[in-house]
Amino acid sequence: MSLNDHWMQRDLAVLWHPCTQMKDHEQLPLVPIRSGSGVWLEDFDGKRYLDAVSSWWVNVFGHANPRINQRIKDQVDQLEHVILAGFSHAPVVELSERLVKLTPAGLDRVFYADNGSSCIEVALKMSFHYWLNVGQPAKKRFVTLSNSYHGETVAAMSVGDVALFTDTYKALLLDTLKVPSPDCYYRPEGMSWEAHSRAMFAHMEQCLAEHHQEVAAVIVEPLIQGAGGMRMYHPVYLELLREACDRYGVHLILDEIAVGFGRTGTMFACEQAGIRPDFLCLSKALTGGYLPLAACLTTDQVYQAFYDDYSSLRAFLHSHSYTGNPLACAAALATLDIFEQDKVIEANKRLAARMASATAHLADHPHVAEVRQTGMALAIEMVQDKASKTAYPWQERRGLKVYQHALERGALLRPLGSVVYFLPPYVISEEQIDFLAEVASEGIDIATRESVSVALGNTQYPGFRDPG
Ligand SMILES: *Cc1c(COP(=O)(O)O)cnc(C)c1O
Repeated sequence: MSLNDHWMQRDLAVLWHPCTQMKDHEQLPLVPIRSGSGVWLEDFDGKRYLDAVSSWWVNVFGHANPRINQRIKDQVDQLEHVILAGFSHAPVVELSERLVKLTPAGLDRVFYADNGSSCIEVALKMSFHYWLNVGQPAKKRFVTLSNSYHGETVAAMSVGDVALFTDTYKALLLDTLKVPSPDCYYRPEGMSWEAHSRAMFAHMEQCLAEHHQEVAAVIVEPLIQGAGGMRMYHPVYLELLREACDRYGVHLILDEIAVGFGRTGTMFACEQAGIRPDFLCLSKALTGGYLPLAACLTTDQVYQAFYDDYSSLRAFLHSHSYTGNPLACAAALATLDIFEQDKVIEANKRLAARMASATAHLADHPHVAEVRQTGMALAIEMVQDKASKTAYPWQERRGLKVYQHALERGALLRPLGSVVYFLPPYVISEEQIDFLAEVASEGIDIATRESVSVALGNTQYPGFRDPG
């Protein structure tokens, strides 16, 4: 038995994997990874895979990065963890100072959580609680965009719009207001991204005009709706949204969990609109992809609404056991050092241009509706019919064929439904980008060549995090 098989069998006997129909593994081999280095992952039989999805969008400076490794090693000998209520430590103070400096002016307070979803819970609770504290208890609903994704916990799911979840868990979810997304995939032929995103804002304006008295906050993923298929829109939408939130007295929550730290071409996506949210949610790349950590930044105005005598019962009494973990903060500090020392945002421009040129030919593919890009995220949307943009039925699992082909060729490309995308670590080389483009082209040819016969239901599920 190969070492891969050995670990796969032991794994499948005891584990339950995330976002996985476990029965798939009767056919689909699991890939046990022994080590990682830079953009490469290596399995137990010595086969290497180029990590084109940054291990679920978290890794930015490669696996086993010597600079991040060293910082964590130093920290672990000093202090591994301490309660953050009543106590503090150097890495969390330094990280907070740097995040306040790095993010748009006016975000002056940092509250920590353990992962993206819990960070969204913090922002939602803080916004609701703020309005309660300032005597506006009617403001308790949240406005979200169609096709959005904000995480897996129940409130985070409530503000998301992934059919698979909103159907299955509907009975558990909060009552939110949903507005059509500015997603430019659906813009009319010949219309610019900017004109489409601007036109789509009319729906948001109407919703806020009608409901602002009962709305606590609007929450959006700025510029890229990630799990919804790497759908993209123009920064003008965020400019209009900031202005409207101010006008209607509603908070703006920006979920930069996936897009923060350079993914859209700027350090934070909101910089491209020149706006500052009331709550900024960060996680994923915050620690370079090493350890779970999330930060919710907010304004002094919000902070002051909670600041009072204990007996007023206005405090934000939310907590997670590992809040502000020193090892995670140390990894984040090393990550921010690399951004600064290596001038990463500037250097990424060359890589983004190479991603565009290496995949440009795919726009002419008979089963590709669109190749779209925002900074270091590039997506290729496979369709059954190019002219009408008719999607493949989800049951055909076309993306899975691309995934399997890529594994054979030594790349980890994990499509979202029929959307093949690159979200690579920033330490990828131009030659490695060319390799990915080649593998993706071959995979798309294979996946779109054959007709697939499956029993079709009538439900349309987007391919959230799932190569299905
Ligand atoms: C991944 C993600 C989340 C959830 O983060 P987790 O750490 O997986 O809980 C929330 N919002 C966006 C936009 C994400 O991409």
